[in-house]
This record gives sequence, C-alpha cells and structure tokens, in this order.
Amino acid sequence: MTLDDANGRRAFALPGSTLHYGPDKTVDVEHIDLQLAPDLENRKLDGICTTTVRALDEAVSVLTLDAVDIQIVSIECDGNSLTYTPQGERLDVHFDPPLAPGTATTFAITYRVSDPRHGLFFVEPSAEYPKKIRHAWSQCQDENARYWFPCLDYPHEKQTTSATIAVPKGQFALGNGELVERREESGKTIYRYRQDVPHSTYLVPMVAGPFVEVAQPGASVPIYYYVLPGREADGERAFGKTPAMMALFEQRLEARYPYARYSQIAVSDFIFGGMENTTATTQTDRTLHDERAHLDFSSDPLVAHELAHQWFGDLLTCRDWSQAWLNESFATFFEGVFREADLGYEEYLYDVFGWMKRYLEEDRDRYRRAIVCNDYRDPIELFDRHLYEKGGAVLHMLRGELGEGRFWRSIRRYVADNSGRNVETIDLIRAIEQASGRNMRAFFDRWIFRGGHPQLRVSATYDDARHALTIAIDQTQPIDAENPPFAFDVDLEAGGRKMRVRIEREHETITVPLESEPALVRFDPGAFILADVTYALGVRFAVAVLAGDPSIVARIRAGRELVKEGSAQARAALAAAFQDDMFWGVLAELAAALGKSHAAWARNLLLGALHHRHPKVRRAVAEALGEFNEAEVADALKIPARGDASYFVTQAALHALGKTRGDKAFKILREAARGTSWNGVIESGAALGLGELADPRATPLLLELTKPGNDQSTRGSALVALARQAGLLESERAAAIDAIGRALDDTGFAVTRSAILAAERLGDKHFLTALDRLAENGFAGRLRRDASEAAARIRDAQKAPAAVSSLRSDLEALRAEQRKLQEKLEALSRA
Ligand SMILES: [Zn+2]
Repeated sequence: MTLDDANGRRAFALPGSTLHYGPDKTVDVEHIDLQLAPDLENRKLDGICTTTVRALDEAVSVLTLDAVDIQIVSIECDGNSLTYTPQGERLDVHFDPPLAPGTATTFAITYRVSDPRHGLFFVEPSAEYPKKIRHAWSQCQDENARYWFPCLDYPHEKQTTSATIAVPKGQFALGNGELVERREESGKTIYRYRQDVPHSTYLVPMVAGPFVEVAQPGASVPIYYYVLPGREADGERAFGKTPAMMALFEQRLEARYPYARYSQIAVSDFIFGGMENTTATTQTDRTLHDERAHLDFSSDPLVAHELAHQWFGDLLTCRDWSQAWLNESFATFFEGVFREADLGYEEYLYDVFGWMKRYLEEDRDRYRRAIVCNDYRDPIELFDRHLYEKGGAVLHMLRGELGEGRFWRSIRRYVADNSGRNVETIDLIRAIEQASGRNMRAFFDRWIFRGGHPQLRVSATYDDARHALTIAIDQTQPIDAENPPFAFDVDLEAGGRKMRVRIEREHETITVPLESEPALVRFDPGAFILADVTYALGVRFAVAVLAGDPSIVARIRAGRELVKEGSAQARAALAAAFQDDMFWGVLAELAAALGKSHAAWARNLLLGALHHRHPKVRRAVAEALGEFNEAEVADALKIPARGDASYFVTQAALHALGKTRGDKAFKILREAARGTSWNGVIESGAALGLGELADPRATPLLLELTKPGNDQSTRGSALVALARQAGLLESERAAAIDAIGRALDDTGFAVTRSAILAAERLGDKHFLTALDRLAENGFAGRLRRDASEAAARIRDAQKAPAAVSSLRSDLEALRAEQRKLQEKLEALSRA
C-alpha cells in the first residue's frame, strides 16, 4: 500500500491491480434461453441454458464460457453430446467439426448450482429472524451471472434472452422482458418471459417467491411492482411515482421507453440499493416505508436512478467497466432531472451540491482517480463516488457549458445514435459534436480522463474612488508542470451586469467599472463548476448574498463565510436566515457549519432552530448540537430524542444527546434502544448515542444490539458505537474487539460492512487476520475492497503509533485553543 500524493491520499489501485480490457470475441451470442427450477428450500437451482452463437471471421473449435461452481450434467447440440472441459472458472465447449465462419449453432447445457457463493441468493426464516419470508434473488453485476448460468459474461456481449421459471404453485417469478406465458403444471406455476432487445448478461435476473403484484397504470407500457405480502401500502409510497418518471424521461430524451414492460421487485437482504435488470429492476425492501418515514424519506431518487438505467446502461451499455460512468453518472444525473421536474430547481441544485460534497469527501479522505479508469482488481471497486456523484456533477457542468438547448439536443443525439449498442466516452463526445458543433475533447480530457478538481477562493472588493468592483478568483490547489491550473468559463453578475469570463490562470482578477457599490455580487449562480469553493467576499457582500442570492449554493457558501467570520453583523444575518430562508438545504448546511464552529453564539442560534418547521432542518440542527457538550444543550435535545414526528430527527437527537453526556442521557438512550422502529432508525441513533457516553453501563446494551435478531442497521450502528466507546474508555476495548471480530464473519452484507468500518476506526491489529481473509474471500466485491483498505490503514497506523498519538494530542490542544480564541472574539464583538 502506497501513498500516491503529498496530500496523503492512497492510490486507488490496490496491490494486485491490473489494467483491464474487454476480451476478444470469436463468436457473437445471438440468444440465451434459460429453463430454471429454483429449489428455495435446499438452496439449489436446476437449469438448462440453451445458447445460440454465430462464429465471426474464423472457424471455432473451442468456445470458452464463464462458469464458476456450476455442476455440468451434459451439453448437447442437435441430439448429440458435445465434449467439454472445465477450466477452473471457465468451461471449454468443443465443436467437432469446428463451427464455420458466419454459421450459427445452438447448444444446451444442463446444469445444477448448489448453495452458490455469488450471483444467486436465498433468503429464509431463521431462529433469529422467524418472520423472514422464503424467496430467492439474483445479482449479476458486475460479473456474477457466471455463478448461476454459463455464458460470455462481459458487458460487450449483447443477446436476446428468454426464461422459463418454475416455482411452487401460486408463487411468482420474474425474468426479463414480456411475460408471454403463465401456466400451472404438476403442482408448479410456470412463468415464461422473452426479451427481444439484445442486452448483456449482467442485466439478467431471476427472482422467485410469494410476491404480490400491483399494476401501475398510466404509462406507455404496463408497469408493475412486486412486494412480499403485507407491504403493499409501503410499496405504493416507494414506487408510486414510477409512471410520472417514465413520462418525464421519455419527454426529455424524445425516446420511448424501449421495452415491453417495466417491473420493480422489492427483495430482502439485497446487497445494493437497486439493480437495473432490463425491464425488471430489483430493489432493496429497505426502501419500502411507512407513513411516518414518508415525512422526510423518499424512494424517488432510487426509483428514478434505476429507471434511467433502462436507457443508460441497458439500452446503451458501457463497452467495458472502465466506461461504467456512462451508466452510473447518467442514472445519478437523472435522479436530479426528476427532482427538478417534481420539486423544483432548488431541490435539483441541492442534489448537485450534494454530489459535489460527497465526491469531494472521497477525494479528500480516500483517493483520487480519473472517472474512466481500467486499473483495478475487481470491477466493483469502480462503483464509488467518482463514478456516481462526480460524474453526475460533471454532467451538470456540461449542461452549464453547452446551455439548456444544446445540452438536451446532444443527449438525445447520443441516445438516438447509440440505442442497442455498447458505448464508450468517445461516442458521447461525437454525439455532442454532431448535435452542437462543439468540440468537447478538452473538457472530457480534463474532467473524465484525469482526476482532481480546482479549489477556488472567491473574493470581491469595491473601490469607491475608482468606481470599480474587483472580483478575484484564486486556484489554491497545488499547481505545477504536471498539474496546471484548471481552465473553465464561469458566470458572474454584479450591479445588474451579467458576464461569462474565462478562468485559466492561478490568480485571476476581473475588474468591473460600476458607478456605485453593487448590492449583490454573484459567482457561478448555476453552481456549474465542479470545485471546492470558499467565499471570501467580505461581510457586506456575504450578508447580501445570504439574504438575496436566488442560488441556494451561493447562499450556502456565503453563509459558511459568515459562520467563520462570526461578527455581530454576520450573526444577525445568520439568525435572519433561520427566520426567512425558505429552502431547508441552506439551513441544514449552515447548521452543520455552526456546529463545527463550536462558538457559544452558534450554539444559541442552533438551540433556537431546534424546533424549525422543516424536519430536515431539525435533523441537521440536532446533529450539529452534538458538538456542544453542555447541560443546556442536553436538556433541549431530550425533547426530540424522546419523540419527534420524524424518525430521523429522533435518531439525530439521540446520537447528539449521547455526545453531550448529560445526566439523563443514559436513561433516555437505554429506553430508545429497546424499540423496533422502521429500518431500526431510532435504535441506531440510540446505539450511536450510547457509544458517545464513555459509560461502561452502555456496554451490555450495545453488545445486545449487535446480536442477530436486531435490524441490520441497528447491528451496524452498535458495532460502530462499540468502536467509538472503546476509543474513549480503554476498559471496554476487549468487549468491542470481541464483538466486532465476530461480526466480521457475519453473513449479512450491511453488518459485515459496518464491522469493517468499526474495525478500522478502532484500528486494532487483532482484526488484521479477519480483514485479510475478507479482502480475499468476502462474499461481495465491496466487502473485499473495504476490507483491503481497512487492513492497510490499520497497518499504517501500527507503523506510526507514536506519530499518530502525538498528532492527536496536538489536535486536541488546537481545538482547546480555538475554543478560547472564539470566546475572546465573542467577548470583544459584544464590547
Ligand atoms: Zn446505478
């Protein structure tokens, strides 16, 4: 493990990483037909996979398929047996005589899969979870179809498919495409599906179980969702807007939804949020939610994301995983497109702001990479915040660069020219050129084929004598021959004048002659530039922006400047914002900034906003109050901690209450930990709060919450809380190590993932053996990646424990100093 730059980020490529390119092709796969008989009780699948292939330009005597842990019974072609040779994770099928160039053949592989490691998952009731309903679901992305049917398992191979699935009488089964037949036969119900538009194997699903079907009328094709019995109303809350989304995307793309029908099926213990299988999206059942959660939780982003994939990913498919941003960034961007149409431009812009923020965190705390990247061990490693959030923000930036008309004409051109095909970034660049005449190669080179982003400091001064406004834009990231300044156009506005100016040097100053000081100075009102922006506008301009700039991103940036500044004028402006600002996202961001300031005046402002009408503001305020370890704050937090209309406000208040270590906190947290709320939201908050108390009485409660039987997110939070508590109280370390160590071997995805995080936070070398094992054999790619990174960080910390602990105490001293200075500053500003 190496550090890749002066900022101490790790290299994205883990040891053992190699450059990946799609494999060569000797045949074109024309069709795959699956006959599937899942045995849910015995975790088995019997199948016949019938494949039609056509030889390309040379005769084919051996065809190598991907097939892992698949027991082959026979392979037949026109009534004759074909010989085959298993080759580890591959299967060689021999053609004798060889298949002549241009000719097609069809062969049928009869096989069995028993208790598969990947690809196909069986859910069943257990002693700890007796209410679980037995069902099975598959998950093929990125290369796991090969665990349950033999195939050429790469995105560049597209074929039509059909599937016949036999399930116990009365149960349901889902496959791709149109439902062409449903019949009863010898105690079984048999479903037959056919998908006539070619697609890739990673988009082939099989789901089976006692699901309930709900039709959603009003779209250009039949739409359904499927939930396990009893979740119908929750399903409506989660999936109700799907027909409206489909109509919107068809209108934006000027392209009809490309398939015969669309279904969403909600399954338990899913290892992703959703999976865009062609026509048949699998969704996590954790997105199903009750009335109370609906107050401030929405499935719309998830639903919009998977629906957008039906075009971006399924119809236009990345040629290989290095190009996966053409799937994921578009799906992320379309979450915002729906949000804008449904809830308005401010909500869209706040989505964009959120994408930038989450990407910037990953870039700062983990690694920096180009969005298009083929250096990995496992393709799933690419599915990170660069691929989703950064790419989404780059598409927003492209929207700003091209302008609304040209942007949408370009996207439509890209879809029209590439439907049914595999795509690479160059196809998008060409479509933009065709549609708009714009040569965007420099843009894509900078933002897609290279990593990083500018750090901008924006300041403004008005010179009364010269009647001129000067706006300075400084790029403060390290700049050298390898990393020249970023070049981009940005919109500015002052005194009624709108300008688009070119920024290309490290320090740029723009002077605008203005008769008098402008009321407002606006920088990048559309928040198009993907950058880490700090405002240094000065109190006067910052106050004006916070009060009057229509851009929510500008208001957030100005508000942050004012929190730092902290003068009486700044405080008054911030207090006014909490009274007047109609957009909750601005206040949520300001609440976080106020919390980090640790200033007494900020605390008072937050206390006044704790009962704000918007639940998402209350949640952010409650979280921020956790920064103030004071009796008055503890007292105020007790009210939302005991109950708020919103689950999430209560969760945040419980966590924050723990941080205050108030005298009643333990009792309230203990009480809350005993509940059984939706998705364990409240118990999770209680667990996190208990972990902050530095009180040994919390240990048995936390250990109880880590046990199977509790909600998976409660279990995860309890593990993270144990790590936190052990960091505060050495006496509780052994108990934490024991519980986290056990959870590293858990079979639940979410629990194992939290255990990895907890292990890393605690940083104990006892975890290394288990983490190394997970890095090698974890049952999901993301667990392998997380475990590798956690093990490397623990090893680094072990190497330099003295340096770390001395840095820690330096940091504590600095924080104490900051608090003192802040108090002095406040005393002075009062005087
Ligand atoms: Zn996606």
